[in-house]
Order: sequence, then structure tokens, then C-alpha cells
Amino acid sequence: MPATINALLDKAQDLCDERNARFTQTRRKVLELMLRHASAISAYDLLDCLKETDNSAKPPTVYRALDFLLEQHFIHRVESQNAFIACNDFSDSHQLQLFICEKCNDVQEVHSPQIQQSLIEQARLNDFQVKTQTVEVRGFCHHCRED
Ligand SMILES: [Zn+2]
Ligand SMILES: [Zn+2]
Repeated sequence: MPATINALLDKAQDLCDERNARFTQTRRKVLELMLRHASAISAYDLLDCLKETDNSAKPPTVYRALDFLLEQHFIHRVESQNAFIACNDFSDSHQLQLFICEKCNDVQEVHSPQIQQSLIEQARLNDFQVKTQTVEVRGFCHHCRED
């Protein structure tokens, strides 16, 4: 397992300890699968991966783990793909923007305070109360533009 994945799993464990949240084997396994997976992954694909080591895994097993990981801000939902990606820093709740490659499905997470600020400002100007926001940008990544 690459060192960075191990380090992130350890960080997740520490954060769960601090928050008195139970980082069960299944939750850890689901996060590990997502960290190994470069692109967004659906709940059903996760279930298939999980079944390779745990035959008794069922859809609710995966959905409960995903809910937990979302709550802890370890993963993000990719709305346009009905899928999920592992977060790249695990800091507390943060707003993000996603660049999604249409060819290889790679998803890059970026954090632009300027975009965030503009959205807040526009909401204020339109007297709109923001509940959730999704910024997903589709296109082609560096690798997929080379030929
Ligand atoms: Zn994130
Ligand atoms: Zn690509």
C-alpha cells in the first residue's frame, strides 16, 4: 500500500479518536478502497470491491459507511456521477470545486476561496440562503489531452 494511503488512514483514525467516532473495520476498508481508486466510485462498485474480502457485505453496509465518511468529511459526493471521491486533505468541513475528466474519469478536488467568496456574495445580493452547493467542471485532464 502506498505510504500516503497509510498516512491518510492513520490521520482518519486520529481524527475519529478525537471526535469519539467509531472508525470500524468496514468504514476503514471503504475509505481505503476509495483512496486507492483515482476516480470517482459508485456505491455499487464499492460494494463489489468490498465483497472480495467480505462476502456478507450488503448495500446498507456500504451506504452506512459512506454516510459516516461524508459526515467526517473524509469523502465527497460527486453529484453529476452519483459517485464519491476520497477527500485530499481531511480538514474540517470545507467547500470545494471538482474538475472531472470526461475521458478517464479522473476527479481533481480544488479549493478556491475566490469562487467561494463570489458565491456567498451572489447569494447575499439575491437574498438567497445557501444550503448546499456543488461546483463540478467537466473537461479533459492533462493526460487525456496529449494526443
Ligand atoms: Zn475535501
Ligand atoms: Zn483524463
